[in-house]
Amino acid sequence: MEKRCYYEILNISRSAGDEEIKRSYRKLAMKYHPDRNPGDKEAEEKFKEAAEAYEVLRDKEKRQIYDQFGHEGLRGTGFSGFSGFNDIFSSFGDIFEEFFGFGSRSGRRERARKGNDLRYDMELTLEEAFSGKEEEITFKKWELCQDCNGSGTSPGSELQTCRTCQGRGSISRSQGFFQINTTCPSCHGQGTIITDPCRSCRGNGKIKINKKINLKIPPGVDMGSQLRLQGEGEAGEHGGPPGDLYVVIHVKDHHFFTREQDHLLCEIPISFIQATLGDTIDVPVLDKEATHPLNIPNGTQPGDIITLPGLGMPSLRGNYRGDLYVKIIVRIPKKLSPHQKEILKEFAETEGSKSSNKKKSFWDKMK
Ligand SMILES: [Zn+2]
Ligand SMILES: [Zn+2]
Repeated sequence: MEKRCYYEILNISRSAGDEEIKRSYRKLAMKYHPDRNPGDKEAEEKFKEAAEAYEVLRDKEKRQIYDQFGHEGLRGTGFSGFSGFNDIFSSFGDIFEEFFGFGSRSGRRERARKGNDLRYDMELTLEEAFSGKEEEITFKKWELCQDCNGSGTSPGSELQTCRTCQGRGSISRSQGFFQINTTCPSCHGQGTIITDPCRSCRGNGKIKINKKINLKIPPGVDMGSQLRLQGEGEAGEHGGPPGDLYVVIHVKDHHFFTREQDHLLCEIPISFIQATLGDTIDVPVLDKEATHPLNIPNGTQPGDIITLPGLGMPSLRGNYRGDLYVKIIVRIPKKLSPHQKEILKEFAETEGSKSSNKKKSFWDKMK
């Protein structure tokens, strides 16, 4: 977006003095202040734009650079405006207090803030991750006290203005030329004192409770999957919305299957006879039937992988299942009876690979 001229934004002439700049900014800041325009993106942009214009024009050096070289010149000095509200408020905190007449009880401190997010770790077996799970979980959280609606005062009693700071929330003392503001120790910056605290929350405004939730884990969750339960986190500050609860999934290792995203892998041992002649065997699956027939073609090699399409994990992303990959392990017998030995020797002779021509045969065959 094309950056607008700072003088135009503040609606002042190029020769405007400090007082005029401040007055004009004050007007715009009041109009577009986020507390007055919650969730309004356009007001937010206007508010940021005005703050940036003011930041530059109130500063003699920056203003001079801007007058001479424009936006481009400022970029050369490393000035990049503001990244967000916090940035603006931390730069102009004092100005806002002055502007809005809150004393030191700035709008900033009283602004509604979203409550903390919470995390709950849940361990599942692969079978549970496969079929999904419903479970009631219990966790501790701070919730808004219903009896005082979060105010901390007992019903019917009033908040009293803090005497230490006269309701400003901070106290200032002089040190040389400077004036240093510190948070008021009596009211911890609130500006008010609770004289008759709410009995339920002891003036805290919040109560720690054991919250129970019936959790539905969808089929297909994986290690590190997160379920977000909106509004199930801790209570917000000053009327802000509650935070969210994040359920973080851990899936235990399985003795038979390993998982690759939505696919499952397993190893099945078969005899060299089965590998040679082919066979149909039952392999374990996570489905209700518990096993599924697997067709082993004749001539199957050790390490061959046979795919059973659609017998892997269900996908979280929709109506789809991964595959099951079966890796074939061929067992070579270690002990043979004399009779079995005879049969195999006989078999070897039919292949024409008798011990007499063994020496040259391997490398010859490779050619
Ligand atoms: Zn209470
Ligand atoms: Zn105080």
